[in-house]
Amino acid sequence: MGYVKGLICKECSKEYPKAPIHVCEFCFGPLEVTYDYEGLKNIVSRELIEKREPNIWRYAELLPVDNPPTIGRHVGFTPLVRANNLARALGVREVYVKNDAVCYPSLSFKDRVVSVALSKAKEFGFKTVACASTGNLANAVAALSSSGKLESFIFIPQDLEQSKILGTSIYGANLIGIKGSYDDVNRLCSEIAEKFGWAFVNINMRPYYAEGSKTFGFEIIEQLGWRVPKHIVVPMASGSLLTKIWKAIKEFEILELVDRTETKIYGAQAQGCSPIATAVKNGWDFFKPVKPQTIAKSLAIGNPADGYYAINVIRESGGWSEEATDEEIVEGIKLLAETEGIFTETAGGVTVAVTRKLINQGIIPRDESIVISITGNGLKTQEAILNSISKPHIIEARLEDFEELYYEKLKKGGS
Ligand SMILES: *Cc1c(COP(=O)(O)O)cnc(C)c1O
Ligand SMILES: [Zn+2]
Repeated sequence: MGYVKGLICKECSKEYPKAPIHVCEFCFGPLEVTYDYEGLKNIVSRELIEKREPNIWRYAELLPVDNPPTIGRHVGFTPLVRANNLARALGVREVYVKNDAVCYPSLSFKDRVVSVALSKAKEFGFKTVACASTGNLANAVAALSSSGKLESFIFIPQDLEQSKILGTSIYGANLIGIKGSYDDVNRLCSEIAEKFGWAFVNINMRPYYAEGSKTFGFEIIEQLGWRVPKHIVVPMASGSLLTKIWKAIKEFEILELVDRTETKIYGAQAQGCSPIATAVKNGWDFFKPVKPQTIAKSLAIGNPADGYYAINVIRESGGWSEEATDEEIVEGIKLLAETEGIFTETAGGVTVAVTRKLINQGIIPRDESIVISITGNGLKTQEAILNSISKPHIIEARLEDFEELYYEKLKKGGS
């Protein structure tokens, strides 16, 4: 390790040393981690990566920690599933599902970003960590800070799904529900971060945190046999994951781990919170903040921190963006479950629904490789589908009762 050069302002390119800071003091632009790619070229190879353990740290040189990771050593390397049934349903040839619904330990892609952020926070000497969350980040920070022996303070909108609340409290985290939207929570947390000096994973640790998302892209490429897919559909909340999948592809190109590629990146949002998609579809350079109203609570960020950069990546890659209604989100969840046996949360429903829309609009072609980014687990957003699924058939424990049920209701076709 030791290939991290420092931080650089994404706007004015002023450089900063590694520190728990996230904005440029000259232009207020966001800071990003930079690496010594020339040095890395001589070190990183497919063979080196392939012989390591199946987790995000197999890409350690491209992650911003100086020492071996102390938190989340088992995170990542989730399945990339060739989804032929779904492909048939969508009327396309080649579809893969990158399935972070089963990411260790808290069942969403946020385990990736948090293990990087908390390992870095430990390097900086923090004892207390915190976050502003739409749900999954809360789960990941709570789980990984308990195993990492850090105290955690977690701030969420108070009306989150029951399982996201439960899946935070169980780890003994300090959980604070705010009467307001995520954007209110985030604003408050910026003030708390300033005053209390904690490591807020998505505020002062954000440059490090965000790098963890690259592993989602690295894994897709490696799992495709060091091939970059033609189309990747990504759900957007702050827009960070989408921009970092793009960075992952670019880094693998720079390090000559893959040939130069032409991948199009598509951003998926819920219709009730689509500031980035709206900007892309209208050809705007900037998004207009919105007040979220959607069942996809994990994506409900009305003022997305990386929205501007997500718009740029989508445009630069030649991709596009679409929205899904609440009804379409539920259909998307059911379609993925019924075709591939993968139960995703509302964010995944958004991504599947948007993929279907883009295919039907002719924007994603039917004969090229498509990766659908599934980022969270369906058991965490049960409220969203409770009224849209069939209830169990209740009978007495008698053979005749089952036979009656079978012949009258369950038996399909034939004699
Ligand atoms: C946070 C989250 C996202 C999007 O993350 P950003 O990087 O903020 O765009 C996508 N899916 C799920 C399930 C999430 O929890
Ligand atoms: Zn700057």
